[in-house]
This record gives sequence, C-alpha cells and structure tokens, in this order.
Amino acid sequence: MAHISTDFFPLSDRIRQLSAQAEAAASAAFARIDHICETNSHKVLAAFMAHRVSESHLLGTSGYGYGDRGRDTLDAVFAQVLGAEDALVRHSFVSGTNAIVTALFGVLRPGDTMLSLSGRPYDTLHAALGIGDKAGQNLGSLQDFGIAYKELPLLETGRMDLAAIPEAVKGVKVAYLQRSRGYSLRPSITIDEIEAVAKLVKEANPEALLVVDNCYGEFVETREPTQVGADLMMGSLIKNPGGGIARTGGYIAGRKDLVELCAHRMTAPGMGREVGCTLGENKNMYMGLFYAPTVVAAALKTAVFAASLFGAAGFAVTPAPDEMRTDIIQTVVLNSPEGLSAFCRGIQKGAPIDSFVVPEAWDMPGYDDPVIMAAGAFNMGASIELSADGPMREPYAAWMQGGLTWPSGKLGVMLAAQSLADEGLL
Ligand SMILES: *Cc1c(COP(=O)(O)O)cnc(C)c1O
Repeated sequence: MAHISTDFFPLSDRIRQLSAQAEAAASAAFARIDHICETNSHKVLAAFMAHRVSESHLLGTSGYGYGDRGRDTLDAVFAQVLGAEDALVRHSFVSGTNAIVTALFGVLRPGDTMLSLSGRPYDTLHAALGIGDKAGQNLGSLQDFGIAYKELPLLETGRMDLAAIPEAVKGVKVAYLQRSRGYSLRPSITIDEIEAVAKLVKEANPEALLVVDNCYGEFVETREPTQVGADLMMGSLIKNPGGGIARTGGYIAGRKDLVELCAHRMTAPGMGREVGCTLGENKNMYMGLFYAPTVVAAALKTAVFAASLFGAAGFAVTPAPDEMRTDIIQTVVLNSPEGLSAFCRGIQKGAPIDSFVVPEAWDMPGYDDPVIMAAGAFNMGASIELSADGPMREPYAAWMQGGLTWPSGKLGVMLAAQSLADEGLL
C-alpha cells in the first residue's frame, strides 16, 4: 500500500507504475531541492530573528499608514533574505508587472535608454515599454516619456548574446534581463550567468544599472540576482516569495538609493515609503515569506516529477528532469491540440478549488491563437499554485508551474498523465 493517498482517485495501474518510476528516477534531483530548501529556510528564519520580528509587526495600519512598523520591518527582512541593501514589499503592488514598471519609471528619466539583454520581455510589459500592439496609444509608456527602448535578440540557442553586450550597453542607463523563460522555450538564466552578465555590463559601462525581472526565480537557488551584481530586481508575491499565503502584492529590492527612487514613484514624489497602510496584510506577507522556500521546493519537485514522467513517456520536456533549475517553470510539449487540452484538464482535476471545472481554449485578448489554462487556486491567478497553460499552436506545449505541496502537485501531474492515457495519447 505504497500509494494510499492516490487510491482516492481514478488512476490506472499503468499510471501509478509510471509515476513510481518517475519519482524514483528523480531522487537525486529531489535531494538537491531539499538541500536548497533547508539553506533558504534557515536564511529566512535568520532574517526574522535578526530583525526581532514580533507579534506587533503582524498587525496592520489604515489610512496613510504612517509609522507602520510591520511594513518597515518586512522591507528590512526581505532585503536581508534577498541579499539586497533595501527592499519595498507591498500588497498594493497589484502584480509583478506593476512592481517591474514602478522600478523602471523609478530610475529612468527622459532621454535615457533601456536595453533588454534577454530578448523580448514578458508580454505584460510591452505596453509599458511602448512596444507591441499598444505602442503609440499614449497610455503613458516609457516611450511616451522620451525613454528609448532597445533589445539585444537572443542567439539561436535561446541564450543571451554575451559577445554583443559590451558594445550594446554603451550609453545605456538600464540593462534589463528576465531570469525566467516566460512563455518561450528558451532556457532560463541562472544566477551564475547573471553574475557573468553583471561583470560584462559594469566593465563596459560602470554607469549602467543591471535590473532583473526575478519572477518565478526566488528561492530556486541559494543566491538571488541582487547578491551577484544586479542593482535592482522585482517580483510578484503571488509567485514564489509569497509562499502561497500572501494574497496579492509585489516587491522591489536592490541598491538603497535606487529603491528610494522607486518608493517616490510608487506613492508620490516627496512622499515615498513613509506612507502606505498595510490593512491586515502584514501577517500574510510575513507568513508567506516564512513558507516560501518550502513551497518553492514543492513546486520544484512537482516540475521535476512532471519532466521525469512525461519525458519517460516520450514527450519533449524542458528543462530535463536532472537539469539545473533557476525557476519553477516546466514545459511539456504535447504535440497535438487534443494532448494539450487533455493535459490541462488533468491538472485542473487535481486542484483544491474548481476541480470540477473543465478548461477550454479561448481567444484571449492580445494573443494570436486561442489559449487554454488550468488553474484552481486559493488566490486568483496565483501561479505558485499548480497551474498550466499554453497557446493552441505548434508544438502544443504546456507551461506548467507551482504546487503548494508536493503530494498535491504530484497528484495533479498524475491526473494529467491519466487524462492523456484516457484519450490514448500516452
Ligand atoms: C509573472 C511574470 C511577470 C509579471 O506578471 P504579473 O502577472 O503581472 O505578475 C513578469 N515577468 C515574468 C517572467 C513573469 O513570469
């Protein structure tokens, strides 16, 4: 009776057997994940202790939020955990995009140039940069304020064009990179690579700021971009660092003077970080940070397990099960519209919320092809919770991420495999 828990679900012997093999094959990767989890958990706990977090910090303020000790201490705790001089952690950032754009407007001024080193940034940023189909609509993009945007295309391998960086960063104010692959099949950018890029950028242009979109990257390795030369980084609290408990929000972390500038953009020039009430959200953000390394480990095990199972079943998976990881995203190439739909239906069946919903592809605004999404989350849209989605086009790949707990993540992946098997596709 090795799998009592899964006896609650209609899983065939074949899927159970494939799963057992996939899990056994992943044991070395799991051991590495556990080791990183322990290091990061201790790092978080040490920061709580160093800043003497107490019950009073968990309470909230209203109105202007002057003197909110919980807020100010959480900033300091986050900064220590991320190895940054300073941080702004706010439930009032509506998403990662909001935190990223606040940081860009915080440090860029008219006449400046921003250069993306990692190709085209994440879709939700295009309008803010002044590129894509909303360009020229006077929405208040960087471009509308006279800030130029340039891009270094990725190499055919999907990696950054390191040789081109020294020349390209001349005269640039912000050199920007996105750690996670987003909705592409390129490899994500490891901390070692970010360290190498930081050196290249600073040697060629000591004035340039290295700004990193750290979404999906927190706690996957034992160091963060701000510890290896990034001047600023940003992320979402309904992804890794919110631990599935923060209900909304984002963060900006990095050099003290730059974080200060971002604070003036976040509220109003002159007001900065002195205002901003936390309502009742402090406790969720502290508790989420406390849980985050463990939840990220669960999401990573879920991703490795999916790579192991679907890889063994003959599907193309990236990263490979034993590949070094720097974010929580797993891509599984399902090869057909039926396969992608069946995969997403299975993931949905394993969700604690809305398990009975059947996802279908729909024409999402801004996308060329219909997109199918599976998500059944406690926090709306939280992708640290198990979720999967993909556009209905070749090669019919699903981008899967999250899993609050390893047993629930594993079950979701098993149900996805079963769903494909039921259609004769696995
Ligand atoms: C999630 C994400 C963002 C921000 O998206 P939001 O939905 O606004 O939080 C930006 N970049 C990457 C790579 C992401 O994964």
